[in-house]
Amino acid sequence: MKDPCAHCEEMMQPYLDRVLTDEEMSEAEAHLDECEQCRRRYRFEESLRIYVRQAVDEQMPPELKEKLAALRIPLD
Ligand SMILES: [Zn+2]
Repeated sequence: MKDPCAHCEEMMQPYLDRVLTDEEMSEAEAHLDECEQCRRRYRFEESLRIYVRQAVDEQMPPELKEKLAALRIPLD
């Protein structure tokens, strides 16, 4: 039988990217409900992502930000 925690780890990145199907999402959440270890990992990974995003935001030179904004295709 597959280790549920190993499966949970596989799902972590897509979970944090919010690209899982509803079914996979509730599967992951059900496991997180009963597994303290994975819950901690998810929380750690999530805060890591927020930290990285902020760091990137802060360190990016304004001219580069403008370039990136110019490349962005308007959605509406
Ligand atoms: Zn687990």
